[in-house]
Amino acid sequence: MKRGICPGSFDPVTWGHIDIFERASAMFAELYVGVFSNVRKKPFLNVEKRIEALEKATEHIENIKVVSFDGLLADYMRANDISMIVRGLRSVTDFEYEQSNANAIRSVHSDLDTVFLLCRPEYSYISSSVVREIASFNGDISKLVPPCVAEMINGR
Ligand code: ADP
Repeated sequence: MKRGICPGSFDPVTWGHIDIFERASAMFAELYVGVFSNVRKKPFLNVEKRIEALEKATEHIENIKVVSFDGLLADYMRANDISMIVRGLRSVTDFEYEQSNANAIRSVHSDLDTVFLLCRPEYSYISSSVVREIASFNGDISKLVPPCVAEMINGR
């Protein structure tokens, strides 16, 4: 059974992430969404809230499993029999960053590989940091995140 993982901070999850999950879930028997719990010292949403948001926003995807971890991604993958990392690409800047990460992981762990999905053009401007910025000024985030996530953020 082939398992993949979409690792990230998801602080918070956006429509861009959901699109990648929907497409990646069709490629694997089981798709893990791995939340880095040791993101910035002061996250916008704590790890429990980020997981709650991800679980609600991915309810429609049957073979998805939301988990958190704070160690090395490669160790988590080995322990859970996951062989493929899935990352979304928005731009050349994303590509340059992702290329070195993917090569670094594969140079150490030859059995682990990364696949990239190009983001939909309509989501290419969406990032968690843009959502955080707008939300911090009580702006409208309804086009950037699923309704259940907007509700959670607006109710903070
Ligand atoms: P990280 O902090 O590791 O970059 P993110 O939560 O920001 O984690 O992103 C997780 C993954 O989702 C990354 O592969 C990133 O490129 C991808 N991603 C982020 N925003 C979008 C988007 N709008 N469309 C497609 N993929 C995206």
